[in-house]
Amino acid sequence: MAYNDSQCDPGARAGFGARSTRAESRRPSGRYDDLGEQEPREECGVFGVWAPGEDVSKLTYYGLYALQHRGQEAAGIAVGNGDQIVVFKDLGLVSQVFDEQSLDSLRGHIALGHTRYSTAGGVCWENAQPMFRMSPDGTDVALGHNGNLVNHRQLTLQAARLGLVDPKTSPSDSDVMCALLAHNTSEAHPLEEAAMKLFSQVRGAFCVTFTDGTSLYAVRDPHGVRPLSLGKLASGWVVASETAALDIVGAEFVRDVEPGEMVIINGDGLRSRKFAESTRKGCVFEYVYLSRPDSVLNGQSVNDTRVGIGARLAQEAPADGDLVIPVPESGTPAAVGYAQESGIPFAQGLMKNAYVGRTFIQPSQTIRQLGIRLKLNPLRRVIEGKRLIVVDDSIVRGNTQRALVRMLKDAGAAEVHVRIASPPVKWPCFYGIDFASPSELIANNVDPEDPVGHICEEIGADSLAYVTTAGMVAASGQQREDLCAACFDGIYPLGVPDDDADAEVVRMRLVEEDPNKEPTKGGHDVPVHVLPAGEQETVSAEPERDRRTLND
Ligand code: SF4
Repeated sequence: MAYNDSQCDPGARAGFGARSTRAESRRPSGRYDDLGEQEPREECGVFGVWAPGEDVSKLTYYGLYALQHRGQEAAGIAVGNGDQIVVFKDLGLVSQVFDEQSLDSLRGHIALGHTRYSTAGGVCWENAQPMFRMSPDGTDVALGHNGNLVNHRQLTLQAARLGLVDPKTSPSDSDVMCALLAHNTSEAHPLEEAAMKLFSQVRGAFCVTFTDGTSLYAVRDPHGVRPLSLGKLASGWVVASETAALDIVGAEFVRDVEPGEMVIINGDGLRSRKFAESTRKGCVFEYVYLSRPDSVLNGQSVNDTRVGIGARLAQEAPADGDLVIPVPESGTPAAVGYAQESGIPFAQGLMKNAYVGRTFIQPSQTIRQLGIRLKLNPLRRVIEGKRLIVVDDSIVRGNTQRALVRMLKDAGAAEVHVRIASPPVKWPCFYGIDFASPSELIANNVDPEDPVGHICEEIGADSLAYVTTAGMVAASGQQREDLCAACFDGIYPLGVPDDDADAEVVRMRLVEEDPNKEPTKGGHDVPVHVLPAGEQETVSAEPERDRRTLND
């Protein structure tokens, strides 16, 4: 979800009006997250439920809890009762934004939920979702979005020409979509038709849930970059960014929302329409790091993928060691795989303080000096005198690994061999993940003759190895051509944005390397076969029961 800080002007947006409830912010501005190392961050989780007779706001609350890792800066729920939509959103974690009283005030049979992570600096109520707009004929429209668009500028100009947004305030891509959707909705041209038209023009990564208070809609971009799944409750339907959120609210997984598909759920049941032919390009980083290990992506267990990557890593980069230890929690499945494949015993050598990265209280200088110790503490009795193989999910700037190696050696480790369960991250993501800026990535600041050797020296390890892209892809159970791996290889299957300074740098760098690698701008030349009006396919009245189950 792209946006700009200048939009952060609480109260400036028309459209929330009396129908939106603004909670008091319960924390100071500014984010204390981790200590000098920016981990890759997902930029949102979406959840939607249609279930008459159920307490839909509480179902959504628990669904958002399961998706909290996808966005920790703001949360919101929109509830529709057929007459109107009420939106309640604020900055903070799901548990900070909502309480019993606020959830009790959200009554209806449809709910949308959203957890948001923003790129640096733009933490404000205005950018929290769901977005809300009203059509010229008075139809309420609420919308939640996960992903990033590459033709954001073009859509913003379109909305500006209609007087819906002020481009000088750089409105978010989610707000622009919501504004265009509402503007094009009328009695003669209902929301469903407005959506079929709009989403065939949108380029980039988008999983969008939206509602007019009567029907629940879920849309996934034609490349299926971000995940979106459909589940069944006894009395209704649920859509969620990850299958783990379906499990937590007791919904049975039915199938993924397909790339290029719009699902419509209301009192007449569930229908499915295609707005574009799909060319699958799922984000490989969802498998490696972003999604919960208990989720299933395109039929593949995330946990199994990570264990498989660890096994590949053991084959590709064996090491002599006494113990395999993970960097918890995200390195744990790969460490299990490495240990199983190598036959070297697995042990927990580091304890993680699971809650420290979730506080918004600025640490004092004394606390700050503790560095990594605030997050991870070594188990001395386990690691003393041992040759350790330490498995982590990725290296971004290298600060964490440098501090980690030093801490393990200080705690008595004889040797520290670092193994990384993804290839070196070198390129920015324009499809919904926030990495450190390219110039800060350690893989871009090393001797090109021996990049891995240089990073190994930088972090002070006895040896260092990354899994290969081929090994990572093989473990994901997906075909290489069905995946995006741009942050590792610089090949951007959806093109790059038309309004982003980093994108210009990337274009220049890629052209320097190989003129044939130049990515398209704004996604216009990326092949997406839009179904012409009148040929839009109605897929099924009732979804086909999927072959895949959560236990696959
Ligand atoms: S660039 Fe990386 S993080 Fe972004 S969608 Fe592609 S694989 Fe995922």
